[in-house]
Amino acid sequence: MFESLSDRLSGILDKLTRRGALTEQDVSEAMREVRRALLEADVALDVVKDFVERVKEKAVGQEVVKSVAPGQMVIKIVHDELVETLGREPEPIDLAAAVPVVMMLVGLQGSGKTTTTAKIARRLQTRDKQKVLMASLDTRRPAAQEQLKILGEQTDVATLPIVEGEDPVTITKRAMDAARRGGYDVLMLDTAGRTHIDEELMAETAAIEKASTPHETLLVADALTGQDAVNLAQNFDECVKLTGIVLTRIDGDGRGGAALSMRAVTGKPIKLLGTGEKIDALEDFHPDRIANRILGMGDVVSLVEKAIENVEVEKAEAAAKKMRKGTFDLDDLSDQLEQMKKLGGMGGVLSMLPGIGKIKKQIDAANLDDSVLNRQQAIISSMTKKERKNPKVLNASRKKRVAAGSGTSVQEINKLVKMHRQMADMMKKVGKRGGLGGLFGGGG
Ligand code: GDP
Repeated sequence: MFESLSDRLSGILDKLTRRGALTEQDVSEAMREVRRALLEADVALDVVKDFVERVKEKAVGQEVVKSVAPGQMVIKIVHDELVETLGREPEPIDLAAAVPVVMMLVGLQGSGKTTTTAKIARRLQTRDKQKVLMASLDTRRPAAQEQLKILGEQTDVATLPIVEGEDPVTITKRAMDAARRGGYDVLMLDTAGRTHIDEELMAETAAIEKASTPHETLLVADALTGQDAVNLAQNFDECVKLTGIVLTRIDGDGRGGAALSMRAVTGKPIKLLGTGEKIDALEDFHPDRIANRILGMGDVVSLVEKAIENVEVEKAEAAAKKMRKGTFDLDDLSDQLEQMKKLGGMGGVLSMLPGIGKIKKQIDAANLDDSVLNRQQAIISSMTKKERKNPKVLNASRKKRVAAGSGTSVQEINKLVKMHRQMADMMKKVGKRGGLGGLFGGGG
């Protein structure tokens, strides 16, 4: 699926790595080519624009890591932004609800709904030890219910007995009843599709949703239809509450645009990929693995990751030394906040130090997400050099000035100063007891 995009991108980025220093213009030029490659892969225009913007911003402001070439750093940035665009973390099927958990699959005819129903059911049953019942609500297409029944027999998954002449909502109710009585963990509803979206289909799908209140409502969409798959998701989401997407025919030679745009345009996670006609051709969707597949430069990415890790370790060691000596000032704290942001929460020096449990708890409780960290950094950067070196000089009027300058409150400044003091005190104590000895070579 991603081959041609992958070829294009690696070609463009390869050129960058062969240079030593990079100018802003080099990066801009490469990004113009990346933009073109993404558009040709049928990625939505807004997604492309946003992506390129983010990469440029980061590439220009990037920290220099001695052991990697600037071009390699750009590859890592492109990789990370691809992961971000694809949804960052995998979002697996969620079964955390009262049994029987109802999962509804919706989509157009021929998208692979029935096949996917059986694929998921089999996997839930064999891998996750769930007892699964499948029911086809497709009363339109002749033999649709029969098709699911045959798949059930092949995969050893139970299907709801077929009763001729029932409408979809009646079947739904019967299926719910059967699932409850039969002690099933999961009930999978395979809904009818159409060749295109129409009001009747939407009304029917909404009625089934109402009758079954599914915990997961997955749209099955054909990845080969590219941008149409994304529009389809938007349309369906207006009618039922989609919880995720399954992209099928990833094994085909589509251009990859659907996978790349889906999350950003619809806000819905891709949960699974259909990778073939066989019943086990189903994969979890891992944004980082897909990003690697698209870039085809996994080794460069891990090389840069290692180098960055080393820099973080060096910085953390330096900060720990300062803490020990009691010279850990607000500039150092600001560095630490930056690292926490990069590491997505607690990290950097704190996680490397023993005896830190109490502070860690406080910091966790303070819920240090990016917005909090950004505010704290804003506070620190609104201080004078003297105040940063020695926060004790911060009297009421100085605090007021800093609050005004950083768009925060005196209360927030007090909190930050207190946190810094506690960290520094604790460090000094731990240092005196020699608690850091093992980590940073004795002394203290
Ligand atoms: P439905 O009408 O949405 O229920 O679609 P079906 O489940 O009947 O699938 C239509 C066709 O697509 C069948 O021939 C399936 O074998 C095929 N199919 C489904 N998923 C995939 C996939 O991930 N890759 C490929 N290559 N074929 C698939």
